[in-house]
Amino acid sequence: MSIYSPSIEKLIESFEKLPSIGHKTAVRLAFHMLDLNKEDTDEFIKSIIDAKTKLKYCSNCFNISDTDPCPICSSPKRDASTICVVEDVRDIMAMERTHEFKGVYHVLHGTISPMNGIGPDDIKIKELVQKIGDNNINEIIIATNPRVEGEATAIYLSKILRPFGVKVTRIAHGIPVGGDLEYTDEVTLTKALEGRREL
Ligand SMILES: [Zn+2]
Repeated sequence: MSIYSPSIEKLIESFEKLPSIGHKTAVRLAFHMLDLNKEDTDEFIKSIIDAKTKLKYCSNCFNISDTDPCPICSSPKRDASTICVVEDVRDIMAMERTHEFKGVYHVLHGTISPMNGIGPDDIKIKELVQKIGDNNINEIIIATNPRVEGEATAIYLSKILRPFGVKVTRIAHGIPVGGDLEYTDEVTLTKALEGRREL
């Protein structure tokens, strides 16, 4: 038997489903929600619903966005001939924070990971290949994370992209091995981008 009434219990359970939220924090958040006024509560609920219903994938780069194409793909200021390939949407945010990259992105939505049964067809690789076949691309910068899967994916991409005669580079390892682009500071990420090497 729970010490809380069923509706509070349900709210606590919902918070516990979020990453890095333990039971204690979930209880604190649930009671904090109860203290919010109606306006703040409605706004909070609306922001979740909006994010879940309005956001879609950009059909060009697979970023998440309110619009298709996304603001980066539709910006005339961006150089569409340079594509930075990342694993995850959050890596775009990390790259954008550097203000150094003026090209466009391609989100793979994962990495090749035979251990987890994820092959090249399970991530957005054929979409990238098709893009290269269709357009004038100067350079593909592979910015997958410097982990085993990220490296394996980079090597695979360099192999399948080579026949297209496009320059394929890999960001330098200013990023610690086993590290995460998302948590890398802007200076390190800028250096990694500057020091990219051809694959
Ligand atoms: Zn896009």
